Amino acid sequence: MSDCSAEARRQCLRPRSGGYSVPVNASRSISSLPSAADLAELRALLVHEAARSSEQAAALSASFEAIVGAAELVNTDDEHDPEGTTIAFERAQITALHRQALADVESIGHALDRLDAGTYGACETCGQPIGIDRLTALPASIHCVSCA
Ligand SMILES: [Zn+2]
Repeated sequence: MSDCSAEARRQCLRPRSGGYSVPVNASRSISSLPSAADLAELRALLVHEAARSSEQAAALSASFEAIVGAAELVNTDDEHDPEGTTIAFERAQITALHRQALADVESIGHALDRLDAGTYGACETCGQPIGIDRLTALPASIHCVSCA
């Protein structure tokens, strides 16, 4: 039975396999509520974005008035003058951008209200954490990826 003992010895010398267990790091989940440091950073981001959007809205409003003013000065006929068509298109575009900028200002304001209320970072629909990655990319988001 020399073969058996040799085999048994090999088994003993062979390093135990399957014993590798990866330690589970549960200290920081991907979708946890933002920490105090995260919140401070996100607040700065929101304040910056709010200022930028208000500036944009004001600039768009000014250029809208400039276009309307210019159109009135030359008294263009939107339907027959090709120049008039361009002005109508620009006007529509600026109106859309202006509306978007105002909507941004509003949603950022809402996010700041939530920061003050201590509800920022939780989904408004399901109450689950929105996740720091999403908040960093879209600081004004009030819904998690599933509810967005
Ligand atoms: Zn949700």
